Amino acid sequence: MAKKKPGSRGKKDRTYVVGVDLGGTKILAAVVDQTGSILSEAKRPTMSRSGADKIVLRLAKTVRKAVEEAGIPFKKVAAVGVGAPAPVDPRTGFVFHAPNIPPLRNFPLGERLGKELGLPVFIDNDVNVGTVGEHALGAGRGTKDMVGIFVGTGVGGGVIVDGKLRHGFRNSAGEVGHMIVGFQGLPDEPICGCGRPGCLEAYASRTAIERKVRAAIAAGRDTKLKTLLEASGKDRITSGLLAKALKQGDPLMLELMERVTTYLAVLVASIVNFFDPEMIVFGGGVTEALGEQLLEPIRRDAPKWYIQKEGADKIRIVAAELGDYAGVLGAATIARDKLA
Ligand SMILES: [Zn+2]
Repeated sequence: MAKKKPGSRGKKDRTYVVGVDLGGTKILAAVVDQTGSILSEAKRPTMSRSGADKIVLRLAKTVRKAVEEAGIPFKKVAAVGVGAPAPVDPRTGFVFHAPNIPPLRNFPLGERLGKELGLPVFIDNDVNVGTVGEHALGAGRGTKDMVGIFVGTGVGGGVIVDGKLRHGFRNSAGEVGHMIVGFQGLPDEPICGCGRPGCLEAYASRTAIERKVRAAIAAGRDTKLKTLLEASGKDRITSGLLAKALKQGDPLMLELMERVTTYLAVLVASIVNFFDPEMIVFGGGVTEALGEQLLEPIRRDAPKWYIQKEGADKIRIVAAELGDYAGVLGAATIARDKLA
């Protein structure tokens, strides 16, 4: 080992950051260098019901393991960024409530993990973090104004304004899943995960699609989704299963696709009319499974509702590029930006 040169210590000498994706079932940590490349990664189960202190320890272990895998000394790590599945105060790293990780309710995760690791720790909401990842290193590279829409079990989003993540006055900006696209005040409107009718998520999430499929099956509708679901042996209709039914040209699935893409096109148009971003990036499990078959109709239909038609074709509606790595790369980017 070479002797430390005087004056070579301190922040500038620490060239790596660790990005952490904290999920309800697993923790993924990656060491990321200055160019945004992943040097190594480590994974551990979250064990989300085991208590907040244990979750902090497991997070710290996963970070240390990733650093060890990278073959760099721990002191070369400048900071850690974490994406958490919860509303978070990004200035303090305080987690308000995490539906998928109940022990983290009203918990100072940033402070506790920072003490455990002896490093600055920055925490943000996972969808915000994914949006930052796609903006910095994925589909949105080089854009100034961008919106991320993640269609999965629910629908989440994030907003980049002038190259920076926009948190909003109460840190709750970007909740595109709860933009109201269907409220008519009728008694039988679908109810969103938030308990209210009219939200986009009640029409276009995997959960919303599943609800429609189950209602159709219960009503005696003949659909490949029924046979596929039975053959899968699973108790939920996964995005992969939806993709299979679509590939087989199942008429019910085609109908549902039209409904979902219409609602997403309305959402995109509302965002464009309000904010006029140069790019909208679609990610999440449903998008990944259905791909262009989801995006193409949105691209075709959304501009019909744009109030400004001039240059409408310049607004790009594209698929996310980073997949499961958007979280760790976004978290690493946030950590690096905060240090700068
Ligand atoms: Zn809602």
